[in-house]
Amino acid sequence: MTRAPVPRVAVGGWLHETHTFATVPTTLALFQAQCCVAGDAVPAHLGGSATGIGGMIDGARARGWSLHGTLYAAAMPGGMITTDARRTMHDALLAHLAAAMPLDGVLLALHGAAVAEDSQHPEYDLLLRVRSIVGAGVPIVVEFDMHGNISPDIVAACDLLVAYDTNPHDDAYDRGLECAALLERLMAGQIRPTMAHVAPPLMLAPQATGTADLPLRAVHAAVADFERHPAVLAISVFAGFAYADTPWTGTSIVVCTDDQPELAQRLASRLATLLLAQRDAAHIAQLPADVAVRQALLQPTGPVILVDSADNIGGGTPGDGTDALRAMLDADVTRGTIVLADPAAVARCQQAGLGASVTLTVGGAVDRWHGAPQLVTGVVCHLGDGRFTCERRDHHFASLYGADVSMGPTAWLRVRGINIVLTTVKTPPMDLAQLRSVGIVPEEQHMIVVKSAVAYRAAYLPIAAAVIEMDTAGLCSANLARFPYRYARRMGPSGQDSLVSAPTP
Ligand SMILES: [Zn+2]
Repeated sequence: MTRAPVPRVAVGGWLHETHTFATVPTTLALFQAQCCVAGDAVPAHLGGSATGIGGMIDGARARGWSLHGTLYAAAMPGGMITTDARRTMHDALLAHLAAAMPLDGVLLALHGAAVAEDSQHPEYDLLLRVRSIVGAGVPIVVEFDMHGNISPDIVAACDLLVAYDTNPHDDAYDRGLECAALLERLMAGQIRPTMAHVAPPLMLAPQATGTADLPLRAVHAAVADFERHPAVLAISVFAGFAYADTPWTGTSIVVCTDDQPELAQRLASRLATLLLAQRDAAHIAQLPADVAVRQALLQPTGPVILVDSADNIGGGTPGDGTDALRAMLDADVTRGTIVLADPAAVARCQQAGLGASVTLTVGGAVDRWHGAPQLVTGVVCHLGDGRFTCERRDHHFASLYGADVSMGPTAWLRVRGINIVLTTVKTPPMDLAQLRSVGIVPEEQHMIVVKSAVAYRAAYLPIAAAVIEMDTAGLCSANLARFPYRYARRMGPSGQDSLVSAPTP
């Protein structure tokens, strides 16, 4: 009896969530600084890691496959991927793939919301080139982030796809293991995957894509039920990434069955209907900044926390958005506090000196997305190095940066009754020591603006008299109608109907 040959499997990945409205491009250097490995270094570095490709590698090793690393690169969400970056990484991945031929299977980890300067659909282009190298008979199994904007072309370009089921994404590794298990059955000829793809006319703001919350919680409850059907191989629910402007931006459902196309189509349609029925739950209730400030003024005691989630520093924004400041200035607020990252304004305050009166513009300097620079006249109340030690030790900020934080040279400028803390380094509002370190007592404020979506809560909720979510300008706005879409056709509850140029089937 002859032993079956050991399957030869290639593994790789390329992940980026592209904010096409962001003005700073994502370069090859950014990928290289964060994660970019090739060849044997792919399994060596990523095997055992909690990533999707880590699950793929461990699943392949457990089966004793001959594993061939291609390229694995990932970068934090940001602006368009440069042409040079896309070409260099894709060419490297494909060269390693070609060198590994002949292959019996391919495992890839992709995001699904990548956009490059020279390609609106770079992941599809990559899959086509992978197919042209490995040929029609070699199965390609792909794991996607559930924030992927999935087109019918993408579905057709792979034999089987699996998305994360959770947001926050804590099942990427498990889904990678699942990809390896499905590839094993595919290579053995035990299954004949057929996929149905339905794209409901709905885009979700990122704030509405948590899987523990509606609308997605309701869809996943049904998925768990449907996946018990013996012919169902995988069900993927894509929330999409609304800030990547493409014709296929938005939610989608992909159901994969073992050779039962009608079942796949029926289940995908039912899940899409379920998602649409919950669309109102995806609405993010926010007030315009001036209305929010007026409401805060009605609150007899403070501090009222004004949430400026459109300028969510943790989401990659500059932290210099001025909408909330302008609203506080217009309302002549006393005991209002805001932190702006603005190195040039810090330098102006340093030149003027402690106690001096200075007229200058603050904020709105990095791009045109975060409100106009504000001309103010105020008194410099504090100048310092911006260092502080977190009061709280149990939160993400401390685990990420350590307990000692530096905002860089920092100034406190007092403009009538409003405290503007100007920092050199943008710093998320995760600890009250940030304000105390410059001399501001947070508990004595009537209102405090926080540039954060969720991360402010641990520090600020314990002292908050009220919390008001604002609809301000910024690249992380939940109000999708603020973005000048050119390609996306499906708008959600926070979008505007006029942008729906054609319903997606
Ligand atoms: Zn994601």
